[in-house]
Amino acid sequence: MIRFYNGLVLEPSGVTENEVWVDGSAISYVGPAREDMPLFDCIVNLRGDLLMPGFKNAHTHSGMTFLRSAADDLPLHQWLEKQVFPAEAKLTAESTAAFVKVAFLEYLTSGVTACFDMYYHTDEFARIARDWGFRAVLCGSFTAGNDWEEMYDYYQHYNHDFGPLVSAQLGFHAEYTTNREKLEYLSKVCHELKAPVWCHNAETASEVDGCIERHGVTPTKLFDSLGLYDYGGGGFHCIYMTDEDLDIFARRGLTAVLNACSNGKLASGFFRLKEAMEKGVRLAVGTDGPASNNALDMFREMYLINIMAKLREENAAAGDPALILNAAVSGGARAMGLDDCDAIAQGKQADMVRIDMHRPNMRPVNNVVKNLVYSGNPSNVRMTMVAGKVLYENGEFFVGEDPEDIYRAAEKYTREILG
Ligand SMILES: [Zn+2]
Repeated sequence: MIRFYNGLVLEPSGVTENEVWVDGSAISYVGPAREDMPLFDCIVNLRGDLLMPGFKNAHTHSGMTFLRSAADDLPLHQWLEKQVFPAEAKLTAESTAAFVKVAFLEYLTSGVTACFDMYYHTDEFARIARDWGFRAVLCGSFTAGNDWEEMYDYYQHYNHDFGPLVSAQLGFHAEYTTNREKLEYLSKVCHELKAPVWCHNAETASEVDGCIERHGVTPTKLFDSLGLYDYGGGGFHCIYMTDEDLDIFARRGLTAVLNACSNGKLASGFFRLKEAMEKGVRLAVGTDGPASNNALDMFREMYLINIMAKLREENAAAGDPALILNAAVSGGARAMGLDDCDAIAQGKQADMVRIDMHRPNMRPVNNVVKNLVYSGNPSNVRMTMVAGKVLYENGEFFVGEDPEDIYRAAEKYTREILG
């Protein structure tokens, strides 16, 4: 058992000065110090630091680290066709594994305790998550070229074969990379499995225009009319959503996963945060892949979501740091089906981050939440714990591998692919 004391705790009710005890993978107690204390294996004096639930990076392409700073500064479709797709065609299971490990290390430094990933070579990805003790949810990335009957196996395989830290949700890449027949088939699958469905949705104006040309309606209306949202789910990006689309998201309890850095860097556009908030659309936060961001940094993401809302509305009062922090933590957990990882509370999984409050960018402590969103950065992450296990602490990784070996392998494979 581990005891954390003498610090601050970000609980659902707000910031408290409670103790947090961890027993195995779960939080066994949150509350004031007690006389009847059990015997602890480890006692951690937080010295005023903050314990918060880990960030859930709700949209990732972890294996894309090899394209960091190698595929930049082009519009989305040119970027995809000229830089991303030709390089990805050269990926192998071994190289993808090395690139995924780089991303996982970066998640840990950024206080991310789970990611929602859409990419290739998914067995390697799931194995690394299992072996390292990192929580990962796979999202199907099916396109028209795939055999969609494999969705059943995909869903069962990743929900059962890699232990409690690995799970999967139904998903496909995007409307523009599939067709109606495939989507109708997916509707059958999601109804049989009673499962939510995810995909990139309304990331660019041309994507929405193309969908309207092909189907007469927006992607959201198309998916809804086919019954793909009957068991929930949502979309990544969700930039060019109409009022009606946002209404569908609100009515069906779907989650819009925000990717502000990627949308900014690719000049895709602004999320309609004000309208989504007014309609009560559920929100989560993701970094997207390292080729379109390029950092896997949830602090920067939260910051930029708020800043972009202000710029879009030309109103410094726009945005909502507390709401966005909540989206980055519990909104992501709910979206990813990680209902027991969303908060620091008794019985929840011990997916927690220790934020170093003894850094100048965290002082003074007028408002912990605003410090996290507006001035926080990964240098404040002192410890990242997943399911009660410390995977990162004081700059050191505890994942069973030497990061230098990982960097070397990633460098070698990157050179083989990119030259
Ligand atoms: Zn994406």
